[in-house]
Amino acid sequence: MTASAEKGQIRKLRGIAVSPGIIIGKARLIDRSRVRIFYHYLINEEQTSHEVRRFKEATEAAKRQIVDLKARMPDHIKDHSFILDSHLMIMDDSMLYDSTVDFILKEKINAEWALKKSIQRIKQLFDEIQDEYIRDRYLDVENVAERILRHLVGKEEENLAEITERAIIVAHDLSPVDTGAMNVGKIKGFITDAGGKTSHTAIIAKSLKIPAVVGLESATSLIQDGGIIIVDGNRGEVILDPDDETIIDYQERQLQHERFESNILRSSHLPAETLDGYRVAIEANIEFPEEVVLARDYGAEGIGLYRTEFHYLRGQEIPGEEELFDAYREVAEIMAPSPVTIRTLDLGGDKFSSISKFQDLRLKKETNPALGLRAIRFCLKEQEIFKTQLRAILRASAFGNMRLMFPMISGLQEIREAQAILEEVRDGLEKDGIPYDPGMRIGIMIEVPSAVAMADILAKYVDFFSIGTNDLIQYALAIDRINEEVAYMYQPFHPAIIRMIKQVVDIAKGTGISVALCGEMAADPMCAYLLLGMGVDELSMNSRGIPLIKKLVRSISLEETRADVGDVALFETAREIREFVMERMGPFLESPEYRNSQDLLADATG
Ligand code: PEP
Ligand code: MG
Repeated sequence: MTASAEKGQIRKLRGIAVSPGIIIGKARLIDRSRVRIFYHYLINEEQTSHEVRRFKEATEAAKRQIVDLKARMPDHIKDHSFILDSHLMIMDDSMLYDSTVDFILKEKINAEWALKKSIQRIKQLFDEIQDEYIRDRYLDVENVAERILRHLVGKEEENLAEITERAIIVAHDLSPVDTGAMNVGKIKGFITDAGGKTSHTAIIAKSLKIPAVVGLESATSLIQDGGIIIVDGNRGEVILDPDDETIIDYQERQLQHERFESNILRSSHLPAETLDGYRVAIEANIEFPEEVVLARDYGAEGIGLYRTEFHYLRGQEIPGEEELFDAYREVAEIMAPSPVTIRTLDLGGDKFSSISKFQDLRLKKETNPALGLRAIRFCLKEQEIFKTQLRAILRASAFGNMRLMFPMISGLQEIREAQAILEEVRDGLEKDGIPYDPGMRIGIMIEVPSAVAMADILAKYVDFFSIGTNDLIQYALAIDRINEEVAYMYQPFHPAIIRMIKQVVDIAKGTGISVALCGEMAADPMCAYLLLGMGVDELSMNSRGIPLIKKLVRSISLEETRADVGDVALFETAREIREFVMERMGPFLESPEYRNSQDLLADATG
């Protein structure tokens, strides 16, 4: 999707709608991109001492900042303050310091330019080093240079938790850490240049009920800090400097949106029962315990996916067993007797783990994080973290109806290893006489194509499957889920995806295990119709999608839908599948709830 400023009075940018709602307010430009070198200029002899002084002062200020950071380091990671010490040493290193001063004096160039030249020279040297670990230390040099540069140009990094005025955040990109730490009371919306529909940043925005548009490409260069903008999270549009008439128009739309939300909420507690009497489990995806109440308000009949990793991204420290146990127990108790499917840590990928508390683990910066040390791979490597979480989950299982699920399984070996660790943790609890649910069901996410190919084998070792289409689409169609350039290729109706889902569902049915789907597509009524017709037992989604999907369930006959959808694997193109579903769903697509929802829910069908 491209962002484009339209001609005429209204300047509008188009991006990807990821979290519904309309908000009118002041833009707050956050600079998270690298400091670019903008001013390259020659200086005369008299100016050299001034430039050298500027560079020295910036370096001193950067040093003070590091010393301060070091002083505030939490005790448990103090042992690793050597990382900051090494940054201090780099600042004093002659390759950086003396060389920059030299460039200023000899080549008569400004300090930023001179620093950049020093860095380029250091990079060339590092590039020649064979040892990967040492070569990667260049990143520390870059980080140090970036810090000095920020002082030179007077740009401080902003912390979203510290924003105290109502604002709409405009950023090149936001990490899930940023969104998780947002001052929710003050941040009324956000828009980014980067990002796609299923990026975790987008998912969090939806959970926090903050209107958001991503993938705008050039929002940060077109929007002025402090300017008034309108974010239309329903349509994926951003209006720049609106006139009075436009503001009034959008205020009206805002009201309509709120009216629609309250209408649909009224029916959210009706059961998800088809016309022919089948109950379908419509559940919620959550990231934090605080969302459980919202999930229930929206009519969730269980938690189909509890993304536990976000708890690890919050705060200064890696959470301990007691903290995790309290959180999991709370969720289990509030939902009981309904099920809570808790997923073990899915760190990595776009859930950035190289924040300071994880640096203890010496995780390498990865070229392809989505294909790297993510999810179960991370847990099998960092077993102490994994065991602590499993112990907390098992203990919480005694307080409700919990199920455990492992993410990103690619083959049987990972299941075996994870189950062996789980067994060990169970034994520990037995020994300590601590209660847990011995019958807790254990499942896996099917989100890597190899797991689809292996599904018949894997089904013999687990109690359920949960298909994660956000990643399955990413890995099967080879599209980075956070890259806006390829966001248009996110196609749940792609025949390859539909065939994979069908294959997994058929295998689950044949083996007698249940199969859920918890990707974003579950919240799209057209996708949900197809999934129910294919035999998916449970759909789990962002809470806000639940009322509409429950309404869909109440409007269909499951037997008829299954018969209709029967041969879906024979279709050749996404368009054919989409047209087929549209034709079958006719009356529902005409209903006011659906039509309004098109303005509200992001169209997940691509
Ligand atoms: C998925 O991949 O579809 C999924 C539900 O998990 P996540 O979005 O957290 O990767
Ligand atoms: Mg996933």
